[in-house]
Amino acid sequence: EPTVYAHADAGPARGRIRILQLYPRDMNIYGDWGNLLTLARRGQWHGYDVELHSYNPGDALPEETDLVLGGGGQDSGQERIKADLIEIGPRLRQWADDGVPMLVICGLYQLFGHRFVTGEGSQIPGIGLLDAQTVAGPGRLIGNIVLDSPEFGRVVGYENHSGLTTLGPGAEPLGTVRSGAGNNGKDGAEGARFKHVIGTYLHGPLLPKNPAVADWLLQRAVELHGGSWDPLPIDDADARRASTVAAARPR
Ligand code: GLN
Repeated sequence: EPTVYAHADAGPARGRIRILQLYPRDMNIYGDWGNLLTLARRGQWHGYDVELHSYNPGDALPEETDLVLGGGGQDSGQERIKADLIEIGPRLRQWADDGVPMLVICGLYQLFGHRFVTGEGSQIPGIGLLDAQTVAGPGRLIGNIVLDSPEFGRVVGYENHSGLTTLGPGAEPLGTVRSGAGNNGKDGAEGARFKHVIGTYLHGPLLPKNPAVADWLLQRAVELHGGSWDPLPIDDADARRASTVAAARPR
């Protein structure tokens, strides 16, 4: 059953946003849960009702959603969800083509690409929604990371992954690495974008310190089915301070 977060102001709701959280049991590490809470709270503060649906392997997938969110996980978590993800892949690709906004972090970012070859050499197939592929490198890329994003400006986070990701021509990076490793530590790219889908290695969680990304997702969700984005203002001074502190920290 969905959890409903009602709009925070006194008037009628400006609309309803349905969020589908993929695999919270197996793919939800390094604070990724905070991305969901941020979307729910900002939705409420902006004057919208927010409906949260969680989806674990074997559950029934809803017919429609306005926003899809997925987190990171260990290789073992990725192994546990891989068969189910392949089954729901066609629906997710259809949604992406239809403009459904999605945010997938690290482990699910990798599996939204073509494949992840783990350090043990096993190949976990992805759904190819993003034109990206990932092969585990010799070590782990760990630490604070700062990006410059053409769409969002400065984006801060934390990364911890073995996978080295290379984008194909069908995906744009989320941003350029200012400090940290990003997709592979070599080409300066971080994350991937396709239509309204964002994949990224940034945990942290990402959204509390980067509210522009959160609001971009919420706006796309509202407009997807013809709603109008008419948000109440939010004081983001704390988020700006958190971003400044995070960007100044050594890796
Ligand atoms: N298991 C994957 C890797 O190590 C993803 C890790 C993560 O989601 N933090 O590359």
